[in-house]
Amino acid sequence: EPVLRLSGVGKSFNGVTVLDDVSLEVPRGRFVALTGPSGAGKSTLLRLANGMHLPDRGTVSTLGEDPAACSRSRLRALRARVGFVFQQFGLVGRLSAMENVLMGALATLRLPRYGVMSYPRALRVRAVEQLDRVGLADQRFQRCDTLSGGQQQRVAVARTLLQSPELILADEPVASLDPAASVLVLDTLKRISTEDGISVLCSLHQVELALTTADQIVALRDGHLILNEPATTLTPAR
Ligand code: ADP
Ligand code: ADP
Repeated sequence: EPVLRLSGVGKSFNGVTVLDDVSLEVPRGRFVALTGPSGAGKSTLLRLANGMHLPDRGTVSTLGEDPAACSRSRLRALRARVGFVFQQFGLVGRLSAMENVLMGALATLRLPRYGVMSYPRALRVRAVEQLDRVGLADQRFQRCDTLSGGQQQRVAVARTLLQSPELILADEPVASLDPAASVLVLDTLKRISTEDGISVLCSLHQVELALTTADQIVALRDGHLILNEPATTLTPAR
C-alpha cells in the first residue's frame, strides 16, 4: 500500500482546471520530487494530499485514508501523521529554535504552551535530538530571526520531525535559499527520509536539484502529469 495515491484526480478553481486526471503513487520511504513551472499545479497537488483541498474528480488516499471522507477529527488525526514544510518556513522569528521545534508537538498536545520548560521533559529531549539531526543542536537557544534561511528551514524540518510523520509534504522548501543552502536542506531531508523510512513529496522548480536528490521525478505541466520516472533512468551517470 503506497503512502499516498492519487487516482484520476481533477481540481478546478472558479471553472479553471488546475489539475486534470492526475494519477500518482508515493511508495513508503521514497523521496519523490514534484517538478514543473510556476502555476503547473504543484501546490494544489500537495494540498490535496493532506486534505487542505478536496478533489472535484477522482480519489486521494493518504496513509490509507480518503481525506474527502474524513470527519473533522479524523482529518486532524491524519494531518498529525503528515508533516508540511513551506517555502517561507512558518517559524516564529522572535522565539528560539528549540521553542519552534517544540511547536511541532502542539498538534498532538492540543494545549497552548508558554516557554520551553512548559513542555514535558521527554519532549524537550526529543526536540534537541531532532535539532541535532539537522545539525543545529548548538543553535537551539538562538532566536529564529537571527538564523540564516537555510538554518531556519532546517529548524522547520526538525519541527516536522517532532511529529514523527509518516509522510512529509514540502512545498518549494528551497525556493528562497541560495544554491549551497538548498543542497544542504535537501540532503538533510533525504538523509532523514532514508534513516526513518519517511516518504517525502517535495515540489522543486529546479530540475537539477530534483535529479541529484530524489528517487523518483514527477513533472506537472498545466495540470497534467507529463513524467513519472526513477531518477536513475533520467541520470544514468549518477
Ligand atoms: P504551482 O505550485 O505549480 O505554482 P499552484 O498549484 O499554486 O501551482 O497553482 C496552479 C494554478 O491554480 C495557478 O494558476 C493558480 O493561480 C491557481 N490556483 C491555486 N490555488 C487557487 C485558489 N485557491 N483559487 C483559485 N485559483 C487557484
Ligand atoms: P505558492 O507560493 O504556493 O505558489 P501562491 O502565491 O500561488 O502560492 O498562492 C498563495 C495562496 O493563494 C494559496 O492559498 C493559493 O491556493 C491561493 N491562490 C493562488 N492563486 C489564486 C487565485 N488565482 N485565486 C485565488 N486564490 C489563489
